[in-house]
Amino acid sequence: MVDLTAAQLMLHQMVREFSEKEIRPNDMAIDQQRFFVNGIYQKLIDNGFLGLMLPEQYGGAGFDAIATAQTIYDLAVGNASVAVTLEGHYKTLDQLLKYGQPSLLERYLPSANQRIFAFSMTEPSGGSDHSTLGSTAVRQGENWVLNGNKIMITNGGLAEVYCVLVKTAPEEFSVFLIDQNMPGFKFGKRENFLGLTGTPIAEIFMENIVVPADHLLGKVGQGHEIGDSAHADARILMGAVAAGIIEHELEIAVAYAYQRKSGQFRLTELQAIQRKLADIALAKETTTLLYQEAAALKQQRRPYAEVAAMAKTHGSRQAVRAGDDALQILAGYGYSLDYPVEHLIRDARALEIAEGTVEKMRGEITKLEVATRI
Ligand SMILES: Cc1cc2nc3c(=O)[nH]c(=O)nc-3n(C[C@H](O)[C@H](O)[C@H](O)COP(=O)(O)OP(=O)(O)OC[C@H]3O[C@@H](n4cnc5c(N)ncnc54)[C@H](O)[C@@H]3O)c2cc1C
Repeated sequence: MVDLTAAQLMLHQMVREFSEKEIRPNDMAIDQQRFFVNGIYQKLIDNGFLGLMLPEQYGGAGFDAIATAQTIYDLAVGNASVAVTLEGHYKTLDQLLKYGQPSLLERYLPSANQRIFAFSMTEPSGGSDHSTLGSTAVRQGENWVLNGNKIMITNGGLAEVYCVLVKTAPEEFSVFLIDQNMPGFKFGKRENFLGLTGTPIAEIFMENIVVPADHLLGKVGQGHEIGDSAHADARILMGAVAAGIIEHELEIAVAYAYQRKSGQFRLTELQAIQRKLADIALAKETTTLLYQEAAALKQQRRPYAEVAAMAKTHGSRQAVRAGDDALQILAGYGYSLDYPVEHLIRDARALEIAEGTVEKMRGEITKLEVATRI
């Protein structure tokens, strides 16, 4: 566990209290109703969550990478969908701060503590291999004209501003910012996903959307680099979501195993159950260490993509496995839709796919290991 500064610790306590009071009591309802019930979304805005890592010059609180990841963890302990909505928002703001032109940032970022931003890469042709993307941006005088279709976008429909990866030439990719008020912007269907059901994940269409030149992030042709950077930032936060889910699973499993008796023994006294509880606790600790290490590397401006990929690869599998152990401890109740364990497994399963599949990340981790060792 990294040592938190006084400011990070205060934020952590405030977020944890918010998560326990406002989010956890709604956890089952969020999953079942596929919606942020009881005004949770508005409460996130009112409590400053959208602007948490936004620099103060744009009206945000200016918190650093460690505090941001810790916040995502604390929210995920309450409900993973809420945490993933902010994960999608924060990773998009990160890319704007890294690659956005000053005139664009001045126009858009002051609104980012009131409205959600999203990052769109995936298309029907595939999410792992961006060379197959069909969306385009064509230069017309001072402007660019965008066309295409993006799917499975976290916060699709909820977000008002989108960064989109498109082709600017047959082998050239670039990222542009568009917003929902632009003529030609349309929302498509909401994905009918298995888990993270509170987070809206949806498709968008671009039909001759015209944007000024300063809506280009970075330079023409820098699209892959920006996409990779978005993934690296997102994977730290997805590691934090995984750790939060595991903490929730551990809490449920320990409480149940302690109060449930088999004959004269509490379940916590049975070796077979102890093994599962210890494995869940171990999963939480290793996942926490990995996402915190990645966040600390990012904060120190050292390379963090590999550890971020490890945090998500390791954490997502551990969260599924720990959920399975928790389900087994609760046995019949664990298998019931009336108890939360089953939805924690469904939520965790999404983390093995979103922000890069675990297969693709293992390829990236191997590439980085080979590059540094051979
Ligand atoms: C909950 C959720 C949220 C999402 N949010 C977003 C979002 O905000 N923005 C966005 O752009 N997308 C988002 N996505 C889409 C996600 O990024 C893609 O689903 C993912 O990149 C995989 O793409 P695909 O589904 O097209 O599978 P494919 O790329 O078709 O992959 C199919 C299978 O082949 C394997 N595979 C493919 N290529 C390789 C490779 N090079 N090495 C090893 N194995 C490989 C994959 O691991 C997978 O098992 C989200 C998805 C989910 C589930």
